[in-house]
Amino acid sequence: MTGKRDGAGESGETDDFARPFEIPDGAGTRVAVVGAGAVGLTAAYDLATADASVTVYERGDVGAGSSGRAAGILYDAYAEDVDARMAARALARFRAFDGAREFSVTSCPYVFLAHESDDRTGEAIAETAARMRVHGRDVTTTDGSGLRERFCDSLRTDDVGTAAVAAGALWTDPASYVDALAGLARDAGAEIRTGDAVGVRTDPPGVVRDEVVTERYDAVLVAAGAHTKQILAGAGVPIAMKPYRVQALVSDRPYDGPICYDATEGAYFRPHPEGLLAGDGTEPVEADPDDWRREGDEWFVDDVTDVLSRRANYDADVSRAWAGLCTATPDRNPLLGPVADGVYAATGWHGHGFMWSPASGEAVAAAMLGGDVNLDPYDPRRFDGSEEFEVVEGMAVE
Ligand SMILES: Cc1cc2nc3c(=O)[nH]c(=O)nc-3n(C[C@H](O)[C@H](O)[C@H](O)COP(=O)(O)OP(=O)(O)OC[C@H]3O[C@@H](n4cnc5c(N)ncnc54)[C@H](O)[C@@H]3O)c2cc1C
Repeated sequence: MTGKRDGAGESGETDDFARPFEIPDGAGTRVAVVGAGAVGLTAAYDLATADASVTVYERGDVGAGSSGRAAGILYDAYAEDVDARMAARALARFRAFDGAREFSVTSCPYVFLAHESDDRTGEAIAETAARMRVHGRDVTTTDGSGLRERFCDSLRTDDVGTAAVAAGALWTDPASYVDALAGLARDAGAEIRTGDAVGVRTDPPGVVRDEVVTERYDAVLVAAGAHTKQILAGAGVPIAMKPYRVQALVSDRPYDGPICYDATEGAYFRPHPEGLLAGDGTEPVEADPDDWRREGDEWFVDDVTDVLSRRANYDADVSRAWAGLCTATPDRNPLLGPVADGVYAATGWHGHGFMWSPASGEAVAAAMLGGDVNLDPYDPRRFDGSEEFEVVEGMAVE
């Protein structure tokens, strides 16, 4: 999760993501949000709090998409400046929402490591950690013996070459965030219509219901996760995004060590109220958002169980394993901003969409109400949608 390709925001020109976004008064403005995931609901909450008239359309239940399937690992340790700012704002908001309804966050150090035999990844970790420190993040670079001093009870360290420890990470239950934000958005006046699969129109912006009725809005946000490309294509707006499948599992045996990403193995794990949550299992090919396997694969469970036993001396007792869809872009940076007059997209998160949602939802809400927010680094129109690209999973450290 730490590695994102260089590019967006390298200039350091904007501070927009570092501070709360100024959301203009929305009174008299009618807005629609397609998708009741973490991003859409955060935007809906912020829009409704600014007094806009907000309708959220969700084809299933609240959190039915990837947000209800995410691992809930949250950190602000990013190497690129614009990402670091976005994540810092997101974590500040996650902490501020702590205690809202059933939502809570738990602080936990985040270790990312490379095996002794994997110099290339080790060098990338050291370099990435140094760049995170430039952004003021408390990230320590260490080796196997340094790691042993801190985490000897929970991690195997004798084969570790280079590691880094980010102090400011958190974990949470993503479904509880989605539920809390849905409740807060409703309290602020948003209408959330579940079981309502819609399309969109541009010029003027609108939402198409039952394939015939178009409701007009001043602004429409398509935060429909893996379906965002399909929905926008229906309005004649191509975007450069591919959904891909990733997997996670929960094991019932206790684990109280750090959040850990073994970058050589490509697997991660964290404490969980039932024991431990672990993930990996990325399929780096485009998935059909309407036809994919929801359950975790046997090979994934076997692979991760194996990593857990080697990395944490942890004997997994897997109670459930599942899959979900992440969204990829050609440059591994998201698509966040207008795609046509009054129509906005929010997708392409490469496995970081949940942890950014309090900031990305807020930023796009501000933009929809005409706020002075610079979304240029993530402009969806930097691509024309016809690009050929490989799906590269978002966690890799390069
Ligand atoms: C196993 C797994 C682990 C992950 N772990 C992490 C993690 O630790 N940290 C992190 O930051 N990210 C993680 N992610 C990624 C994260 O889940 C996503 O990036 C994030 O949830 C995206 O949120 P969203 O609101 O954009 O989309 P979604 O949560 O997918 O919401 C989109 C919503 O739109 C709805 N929708 C679709 N089509 C329509 C339509 N036509 N009309 C109306 N509604 C529609 C869907 O039903 C859905 O509810 C993980 C993902 C998976 C699968």
